[in-house]
Amino acid sequence: MSIQQNLDHIKSTLPEHVTLVAVSKTKPVSDLMEAYNAGQRVFGENKIQEMVEKHEAMPKDIDWHMIGHVQRNKVKYMASFVRLIHGVDNFKLLKEINKQAKKYDRVIDCLLQIKIASEDSKFGMSVEEASEIIQSEDFSELQHIKVVGVMGMATFTNDLHQVKKEFTLLKTSFEDLNMLKTANCELQTISMGMSGDYELAIDCGSNMVRVGSSIFGERNYSKQ
Ligand SMILES: *Cc1c(COP(=O)(O)O)cnc(C)c1O
Repeated sequence: MSIQQNLDHIKSTLPEHVTLVAVSKTKPVSDLMEAYNAGQRVFGENKIQEMVEKHEAMPKDIDWHMIGHVQRNKVKYMASFVRLIHGVDNFKLLKEINKQAKKYDRVIDCLLQIKIASEDSKFGMSVEEASEIIQSEDFSELQHIKVVGVMGMATFTNDLHQVKKEFTLLKTSFEDLNMLKTANCELQTISMGMSGDYELAIDCGSNMVRVGSSIFGERNYSKQ
């Protein structure tokens, strides 16, 4: 199936309140343009340099989401245009995003990455850490970031029962944190679900899914 057909199929199954992030990492601009021409405007990348290059090459009415782990020293390269940063997992990173956003007189939306998987390899903070950050005075001084939700990645397993448990944990974390409304924290987004599990994620409360291979086909990392 073509990229357009894949996109049409996925979009036809998504409830209206769910945002589809087309995860285009490792794929060439020509593939992204095919999705763009099919109407897709939200793209997710996991490497800052790659996102910067694609941002330069593509039309300017695209929302670019950084979905990967962010190194603090690279925030400056995307601060002028990034629409949403999904994987914020510590306060120092928030501070750096705030500092870089200020240079462009922007407010950058961020999601706090919550660790829901049992695997050690997945990044993220606990809901307690997230709650502490949001309530801290240091956080209240950051006027150029806004925390608009949470993001999580489930364990890489075929055990749907476990995945469901982890998605449910993210939904509960969202609800707990959602009670802490502050000037720069107003939660509305739950980013969870990928090609293999986005339908389950939506059943568990996701309203933003990050889908790559089901749109663009399998990724071939050896070519990179
Ligand atoms: C690559 C990636 C995805 C998309 O994965 P697919 O299985 O190809 O849909 C989603 N989220 C993150 C954080 C990713 O790195």
